[in-house]
Amino acid sequence: MKPVILVIEDETALVTLIRYNLEAEGFEVMDAPDGEEGLLILSENAVDLILLDWMLPDLSGIEICRQIRRRSDIRNIPVIMLTARGEEGDRVRGLNAGADDYLSKPFSYKELIARIHAILRRIRPALEEKTLTFHDMEMNVVTHRVTRDNRSVHLGPTEYRLLWHLMENPGRVFTRDQLINAVWGHDAEVDERTVDVHIRRLRQELNAKDEVDVIRTVRGAGYALDLVG
Ligand code: CA
Repeated sequence: MKPVILVIEDETALVTLIRYNLEAEGFEVMDAPDGEEGLLILSENAVDLILLDWMLPDLSGIEICRQIRRRSDIRNIPVIMLTARGEEGDRVRGLNAGADDYLSKPFSYKELIARIHAILRRIRPALEEKTLTFHDMEMNVVTHRVTRDNRSVHLGPTEYRLLWHLMENPGRVFTRDQLINAVWGHDAEVDERTVDVHIRRLRQELNAKDEVDVIRTVRGAGYALDLVG
């Protein structure tokens, strides 16, 4: 689950650079060239943080920030204001309008990313979580280490991706087709039986010590991460 950042900024060259840097850092990026489109995106998508330019063609960043804070459905989304000005008065106005932080252009991407992480850690700790857990299993998505009942589980790359997808959605039943799309990609020509083969291997590794099976086979449907029996 990648945190989603909405960039409301009219300078397309800057948007391209921001997008490049944030995507490299593992964020999903959406962008809007003005406030109207930005507010529309916010109504229709789950956004985790907003980068908001101060000088925009229609509504100013300050006004957009005020509107965001007045709307109950989006008022809790953190906002970082971006501005060409650096005066203390603007900084105060931005923070008064409800911005969580403030960055003067030109800024370094290292600084921007550090500020984003700091806010997400404070506001949405789960988004910064590097470890997925289910029952007695743990998966560290940074080191790729998987443990069950504190013993290391060694998985091949395909089994690892399968388990990752299942651990991000515990209890949810996936068809073989959905697992192929998630693990091999939409263009992959993978037979449904290949999924069964990798699920079997995954089970063998996870249940090597005769632990309770954590992968449920749903007849006529597919597979789910679930405590079986
Ligand atoms: Ca601008």
